[in-house]
Amino acid sequence: MPEGDTIWRTAAALRQRIGGKVVSDARPQAIARLCGRRLESVEPTGKHLVMQFEGGLALHSHMRMTGAWHLYRVGERWRQPERRATAVLTFDDVVAVCFAAPVMELLADAQRPVAHLGPDILADPFDLDEVIRRARQSEAPTLGELLLDQRVCAGIGNIYKCESLWALGLDAWMRPAALDEERLRRLYLTARDLMRRNLVTPIARQRHAVHGRGGRPCPRCGTPIRIGAQGQQARLTYYCSRCQGQPASQRPPTTAVVRKGEGDFSSGRKPGSRRR
Ligand SMILES: [Zn+2]
Repeated sequence: MPEGDTIWRTAAALRQRIGGKVVSDARPQAIARLCGRRLESVEPTGKHLVMQFEGGLALHSHMRMTGAWHLYRVGERWRQPERRATAVLTFDDVVAVCFAAPVMELLADAQRPVAHLGPDILADPFDLDEVIRRARQSEAPTLGELLLDQRVCAGIGNIYKCESLWALGLDAWMRPAALDEERLRRLYLTARDLMRRNLVTPIARQRHAVHGRGGRPCPRCGTPIRIGAQGQQARLTYYCSRCQGQPASQRPPTTAVVRKGEGDFSSGRKPGSRRR
């Protein structure tokens, strides 16, 4: 799933190639009103992307699990079939195509889709005080779920949730109220630091410590990485039971998934098969 850093790189590429240019063709019909308008700005917030056009119209897209913006030269072959395209914007000699985005809408108010979100984890400056304030009001029952709560802090996805908790040796099932403010601040700053590094070195080339490494040894202590489903959406948390331990007796029963889960569920790999 694209996390905030992917959306930031996408926004930077869109800005560079089509920022300030005028739309010469826009499909489907629902976004045809963009024709003839200049692209004024491209703003990522969390996993949302808002493209602001002159005359007050904004195109809001959210990638969820499947979506991706591509840029092509006019006439260049697309890397995905046309039937998967949810928006096609032509600018002069460049075509911006968004494939398989579950949310694509034209709005008069560019702020509306992101108004409920917490501060963006990658923004500069980063409003950590506001994140902590929102975190203390959140009803997320565990640290893992808190990190994914976009109303607290926008842009952290499942990968950086797992990696940040591991980096600080924190239990994903810990109650957020049990974490003192200093460590809570450090947790968000760690996620930010890991994600900002990834703006420079894309995720595919980075090694993860725990995410996607079920059953393989923890880089710190060698204990096999475990997987547990967390929260209502059963997001998979990869963790080291030794480095991030609290006694198993204090953990909710959601970790039952762990015992059969030595493989990487998210990619459908067989247990023990190597990733790279
Ligand atoms: Zn470990």
